[in-house]
Amino acid sequence: MRTRLIHGGRGPRGAGAQGVNPPLVRLSTVLFDNLAQMRDARARRDHERVLSYGARGNPTAYALEDLVTDLEGGHRTKLFATGLAAIAQTFLAYLRPGDHLLITDGVYGPVRRLARDFLLPFGIEVDYYRADGQGLAAAFKANTRMVYAESPGSLLYELADLPAIAALCKANKALLAVDNTWGSGYLYQPLQLGADISIMALTKYLAGHSDVVMGSVCTLEGAFAPLSRMSDTFGNTVSPDDAWLVLRGARTLASRMEVHERQGLEVAQWLQSRPEVARVFHPALASHPGHELWKRDCAGSNGLLSFEFAEPGLARAEAFIDALQVFGLGASWGGYESLVTLADLGDRHYPVATQGAVVRLHIGLEDVTSLTADLQRGFAAI
Ligand SMILES: *Cc1c(COP(=O)(O)O)cnc(C)c1O
Repeated sequence: MRTRLIHGGRGPRGAGAQGVNPPLVRLSTVLFDNLAQMRDARARRDHERVLSYGARGNPTAYALEDLVTDLEGGHRTKLFATGLAAIAQTFLAYLRPGDHLLITDGVYGPVRRLARDFLLPFGIEVDYYRADGQGLAAAFKANTRMVYAESPGSLLYELADLPAIAALCKANKALLAVDNTWGSGYLYQPLQLGADISIMALTKYLAGHSDVVMGSVCTLEGAFAPLSRMSDTFGNTVSPDDAWLVLRGARTLASRMEVHERQGLEVAQWLQSRPEVARVFHPALASHPGHELWKRDCAGSNGLLSFEFAEPGLARAEAFIDALQVFGLGASWGGYESLVTLADLGDRHYPVATQGAVVRLHIGLEDVTSLTADLQRGFAAI
């Protein structure tokens, strides 16, 4: 995997001397030598990757597509302007009015809005299932076309038994799509665990430097055509400059992830020893309900963790957050910097019982002692 990250997307050897990095190629119009060549490109471009027009992709984006395909172990990848756009395009590609979609209750929040404001008005039924997958078998209907999973889930990192969900999907002739942003193609392999479609916000760990947004969808061979067709129908592409930035970031994913993982665990354990903290949510902790599945299915953990205050009341969490000086107050994650945000669990369909407010941390690449000192400052302020 580490070697694939370094060498992926570079094309075959033997093409002559070339730079280490794929070139940044800006283009809109593509010129052909003659009409026969142009007709050939147009005849093939709906089924193959053929350079024909900037709105259908560019060589720099192709290089990134290949790297993502390598990481995910899939057939091919399409890129989208953001992670959320990648999710929306997945729904557009595979769902039709009258279909039924099952979404995990551990889903990245904005997907609930996508379901409410787009899927429901366009005649697609949506139900939510428990983030650990419990009760899913009974939730299938005759018209269930897709199960949308996210494992580990957003904010609390619930694990679902993906191979078991894949078996249910197969028996019910439904597709399994998984948001793999937590694993970022390095820690978790949904397509190897039975999913048909794996989606990532490359914005997070792949890019890794908080300077670009992008999403990817990688599928098995049998599922690729609808995604590719609908993506071209809607004119989706990404800029070569952005693809180049994500490629540059991805080269160091493994090294960064090791530091995020080590420091994330250190902070998680430190928080567990604090009297102000009731629970720490991190799948690598033995106390996490999904720990056994995490051990079975994940190759490690990252810099994300959440914790719950022991005492009730939002004011405590607000004073804590506002006192922090090293942690930035921001909602995204996966960059090199540490972040804090309030975790809003209010939109869950299956309410999570909590004593106090829940705060989400992203542990970055700073000195871990400066991070615990900052958290200490936060606790002192409440
Ligand atoms: C951030 C995130 C997204 C959306 O990515 P954007 O590029 O910010 O649109 C999707 N899924 C998960 C789990 C995320 O954390």
